Amino acid sequence: MKVTGIDSFVLRIPTPRLMALEFPEHRLVVAMIYTDEGLTGLGYSLAFGGGGAEAIQVYLETRLKPLVLGEDPLFVARLWERMYRADRGIKRQGVAAYALSALDIGLWDLVGKAAGLPLYKLWGAVTDRIPAYGSGGWPKYSLDDLIGEAKRYVGMGCRYYKMKIHNPDPRVNRQRVEAVREALGDEIRLMVDVNQKLDVLGNIRQARLLEDLDLVWYEEPVLADDLAACAEVAQRIGIPVATGENNYTRFEFRDLIERRAARYLMPDVCRANGFTETLRIAHLAAAHQVAVTPHVVHELSVHVVGALENGFLVEFIDWTPPDLFAEMPRCEDGHFRIPDRPGHGMALAPGAERRYRVG
Ligand SMILES: [Mg+2]
Repeated sequence: MKVTGIDSFVLRIPTPRLMALEFPEHRLVVAMIYTDEGLTGLGYSLAFGGGGAEAIQVYLETRLKPLVLGEDPLFVARLWERMYRADRGIKRQGVAAYALSALDIGLWDLVGKAAGLPLYKLWGAVTDRIPAYGSGGWPKYSLDDLIGEAKRYVGMGCRYYKMKIHNPDPRVNRQRVEAVREALGDEIRLMVDVNQKLDVLGNIRQARLLEDLDLVWYEEPVLADDLAACAEVAQRIGIPVATGENNYTRFEFRDLIERRAARYLMPDVCRANGFTETLRIAHLAAAHQVAVTPHVVHELSVHVVGALENGFLVEFIDWTPPDLFAEMPRCEDGHFRIPDRPGHGMALAPGAERRYRVG
């Protein structure tokens, strides 16, 4: 098989009412990969909040696409290596990793379609049903918004809900978490997300105020660049630390693991250099009793978790409009059944490109 063409573009997608308080839109950088055998692979990266999508698309189009055109898409790891090693002098991760991720996801989609298998089965399935946690709770939500959102996820059967703790006053965050706990009851477990906003001492102070609430994890306490600080927080607080949505490679994750900086690792398949590198990260974590709970894009992440002995939850942020994808996995009893369609099983809805394409 040969790659005969790649069409890349940006989709701009408005978010639903509540999320729009914080992020009015997201953008997807899409790569359609065409082959001489008539199979088409769909790859995409989610630029959460939209930032950087145009740069990702230009990098993909100008620097990575030429490395894949004319090649056999079934040699995914070879093409991954070629893309990863390109432009080492100027790029490391970030924009380039998002671009590589989109192509890697599209190549794997082709592999699955060529094999006639969904990816999680191609990778050796553990389960076809993945538990999800409801995720949101941004700081611009009123208390009613927050509790309403949490209850909506619980209404879909989710046994876990994650909220942001972004207020500079740790007592305000405590009050909001406590209010959600009271509204949902003890049966529903909660997680909190700092999104890199505090330093080590700020986290120790914040976590101390939350330690009696039986939280599942305390997420992304410090700047994602500072693995040492994350490790220090993990050693000093009584809540398990989760991190990784802004880490990109097996090397970074190896360092997080070796420093014992997190009990839960959350690679994002659209950032961490695609399915290829995310699986490597996850297998490395398995050797250290560390669980993997991927960041957002649950419609793609379910395949990863479905193939992992150490997979835990997928993050469910219910934001996609019904006319974006042909068929989005549905949350039932708090779980997603992994689509049994070949590849990752996702396709753009008819007309989605016309409706949402930028430019
Ligand atoms: Mg997070």
